[in-house]
Amino acid sequence: MPELFIEGRWASAVDGQTREIHCPADGTLVATVDEAGPKDAAAAIEAARAAFDSGPWPRTPAAERGRLLLRVADLLERDQTALARAESLDTGKRLVESEHDLDDIANCFRYFGNLVAAGGTERVVDTGDPDIDSRVVHEPVGVCTLITPWNYPLLQTAWKVAPALAAGNTFVLKPSELTPHTAIGLMRLLAEAGLPDGAANLVLGAGPVVGVPLTVDERVDMVSFTGGLATGRHIMAAAAPTVKKIALELGGKNPNIVFTDAAFDAAVDHALTAVFLHSGQVCSAGARLLVQAELHDRFVDELVHRAREIRLGGPFDEHARTGPLISAAHRAKVEAYVAAGLDEGAVLRCGGRRPDDPALQNGYYYLPTVLDDCTPGMSVVRDESFGPVLTVEQFRDEEEAVLLANDTVYGLAGGVWTTDEGRARRVASRLRAGTVWINDFHPYVPQAEWGGMKQSGVGRELGPAGLAEYQEPKHIWRNTAPTPQRWFA
Ligand code: NAD
Repeated sequence: MPELFIEGRWASAVDGQTREIHCPADGTLVATVDEAGPKDAAAAIEAARAAFDSGPWPRTPAAERGRLLLRVADLLERDQTALARAESLDTGKRLVESEHDLDDIANCFRYFGNLVAAGGTERVVDTGDPDIDSRVVHEPVGVCTLITPWNYPLLQTAWKVAPALAAGNTFVLKPSELTPHTAIGLMRLLAEAGLPDGAANLVLGAGPVVGVPLTVDERVDMVSFTGGLATGRHIMAAAAPTVKKIALELGGKNPNIVFTDAAFDAAVDHALTAVFLHSGQVCSAGARLLVQAELHDRFVDELVHRAREIRLGGPFDEHARTGPLISAAHRAKVEAYVAAGLDEGAVLRCGGRRPDDPALQNGYYYLPTVLDDCTPGMSVVRDESFGPVLTVEQFRDEEEAVLLANDTVYGLAGGVWTTDEGRARRVASRLRAGTVWINDFHPYVPQAEWGGMKQSGVGRELGPAGLAEYQEPKHIWRNTAPTPQRWFA
């Protein structure tokens, strides 16, 4: 069955191109899928444009749009097992993690469905003149290009698709070329839920080939992108000539700050999940551990001890605690960062190589790695390696902790561990990041905004602001008793 979804119909790529998808856990062929080119991108944009300009979706009442999203949430729950399996085969991540993601994905559709159905976004403006009816309404932006990465394929897609549809937009989705299957599954569910033809369109393929036309075409009103910083910069530039609205969710190099008075066991435990969850392929990974000098030796010894115990394995290995990296190229990049860190003086405390286990040799595995004695100038500290690599730096006091934490171009997330409430509040308010966790790491909820300061992005996903990204406020002024103004007598 063809895998591109354009104007409500499944289609093969015009040029007949295909791509093989391999499971990163063992290299096996998952499937061969259609690979779109610029002509397919143009057809998808045209379909979304027509659906926006003359189709029913933008004119569907908000309550009805909300109901459709709730139906999609139900369908996602119905198909959870199949979708989680597809996600795990594409990404190599553990099945339980994919199942957990699927819960969050259904919740995301439910949240935006309820939010938009509740209405209340229209605002009456009091001008003081009883003859003037002035109000601000929120309209959809138009045709949205949605581009997503491979680490949380369907979750990142849901964070865009749900609010974009809730607001009444039409879209063209381009998932990562490495992980297309759950996006295909979502299109089926949107059609089954009753979304009108052309409102949702899917093209699959490489960023430079099929992503670029989606970011430059003048028929597109908005580009919402999640991915790496370098690609984000390209997209910002590509969208500039036609002054598109943009929303960017980019990378992070997130600090996890541990003071001596932290709850020791919980802080060590969360420091591990902060960085090694999904083998570090998480935008909000706590990849920079900043630990107070007096606590350093005890904390890092315990952390290294537990990191050595983390078992690697494929999606269906019930004993595994984390999986492979997404590709050979990505693993090579992680290895290069570790090598550079060691050259620059970091001390290897564990990992730093591929596992010996013969059962893992066909996958792109890399051992959980801790680099101690790191300094702010090292590339492994500054850049997002996006792998299972923790760098450790020491600080003396609160002031130095904040300076080190903010010494990055990124500003996505950060954590602080202390039992001193005043200090927790002070540090949280000084961290330049879109999310700060106090005595925790990683949780998020669809009600709360997610996004980055500095070069971690532009705009927000989730929460009311996540819906507002896909809306244009319009001020409508109605004079109910017009009289001549005589400005120009
Ligand atoms: P990437 O930037 O390589 O690719 C992301 C998407 O952009 C893919 O679909 C890709 O095909 C497409 N693309 C690539 N070049 C393009 C171009 N020139 N024009 C248009 N599209 C193009 O990122 P990735 O490696 O897939 O994902 C990992 C990155 O995503 C990490 O940096 C991570 O931090 C980031 N991320 C951020 C968040 C967040 O919420 N801030 C969430 C998840 C991932």
